[in-house]
Amino acid sequence: MKILLLGKNGQVGWELQRSLAPLGEVIALDRSGGEGLCGDLADLDGLAATVRKLAPDVIVNAAAYTAVDKAESEEALAALINSEAPGVLAREASALGAWLVHYSTDYVFDGSGEQRWETDAPTGPLSSYGRSKLAGEDAIRANGAKALILRTSWVYAARGHNFAKTMLRLATERDSLNVVADQFGAPTGAELIADVTALMLCQVLRTKDSADLAGTYHLAAAGETSWHGFARYVLQHAEQNGVTLKVSSDQLGAIATEAYPLPAPRPRNSRLALGKLEHAFQLKMPSWEQGVQRMLDEVQH
Ligand code: NDP
Repeated sequence: MKILLLGKNGQVGWELQRSLAPLGEVIALDRSGGEGLCGDLADLDGLAATVRKLAPDVIVNAAAYTAVDKAESEEALAALINSEAPGVLAREASALGAWLVHYSTDYVFDGSGEQRWETDAPTGPLSSYGRSKLAGEDAIRANGAKALILRTSWVYAARGHNFAKTMLRLATERDSLNVVADQFGAPTGAELIADVTALMLCQVLRTKDSADLAGTYHLAAAGETSWHGFARYVLQHAEQNGVTLKVSSDQLGAIATEAYPLPAPRPRNSRLALGKLEHAFQLKMPSWEQGVQRMLDEVQH
C-alpha cells in the first residue's frame, strides 16, 4: 500500500504522518517536495507528474491555502491551490484507480440559521477562501475519482500556534479580553481528523464494493460552542491547574461579530451534522471538550 501525503507539515498533515504510518508506505511531501518529486500545489504540471511517477494507491491532500483573510486579496492564488490543484489530483487519482482524501470546510456554507448542516445542504460561501474550497470539492466530483471529501471546522493542534494558546497568553498579559460569542461550531483537533481519516481509509481499502463509501462527509468533534465558550473553557482549565490569570474565565467579555471586523466574513452557524460519517463508518465522534482538554494538558505540562 503506497500513500502520497501532501501538506505534511500543516496541523492535519503533521498528525496524518503519524496516523497513516501503520497503513503502508507513506511518501510525505511539503511544498518543497524533494528527490525529483513536487509537493507544491501551485505547480499543477509538477503535481501531476509526481502522482504518475509514484502511482500511489491513496492520495491524501492536507495542503491548502488557509490564510482566510489574505485570500480576499489573493483570490487567484487561493483558487489555484484550493480548486485547481485538487482537480488535478482527482484526475490523476481517477486515471490510477487510486483513492483521494481531501479536506474541506464549514466555510462552504453561508452560516445562516441554527440547524446543523447536512452534507447535502445548499452551499453559499461568504468569502474568497470559502469559494475556493467549494470549487475544489466540485473539481474533485467532476473528475470522477473515488474520493472522501471531509469537511471539518475550527481546527486546532498542540503543535504550533492555536486559538487556545493565544487566549491563555492574552489572559495572562492583558487587563481585559473580549471574544466573539455569536459564531457557533465545534473546535476539532488535528489528531482526531487524522485518526478518523486512517479509520475511514482502513474501511474503504478493505471493504468490497467500497466505492459506495466515496462521497462528502462532515468530520468534526461532537457538541458545539462559540469562540467565547471555547475561550472560557480554556481559561477555566488553566484556573483549575493553578495558573494565575489577569482576566479570569468569569471576566471574559462576550462580543458580537460586528465588534471584531475582519476582511473575510465568517459563517455564524458552522454546526456540522455528523450522522452520515458516524453511520457509514460506524464511528462516534467524541465531544469537543475531550480533545481540547487533552491538548491543554499537553501544552501546559
Ligand atoms: P494548515 O494551514 O495548518 O496547513 C496547510 C498546509 O498547506 C501548510 O503546511 C502549508 O505549507 C501547505 N501549503 C500551502 N500552500 C501550499 C502549496 N502551494 N503547496 C503545498 N503545500 C502548501 O492547515 P490545516 O492543517 O489546519 O488544514 C487542513 C485542511 O483542513 C485544509 O484543507 C483546510 O482548508 C481545512 N480546514 C481547516 C480549518 C482550520 O480551522 N484550520 C477549518 C476547516 C477546514 P506552508 O506552511 O509552507 O505554507
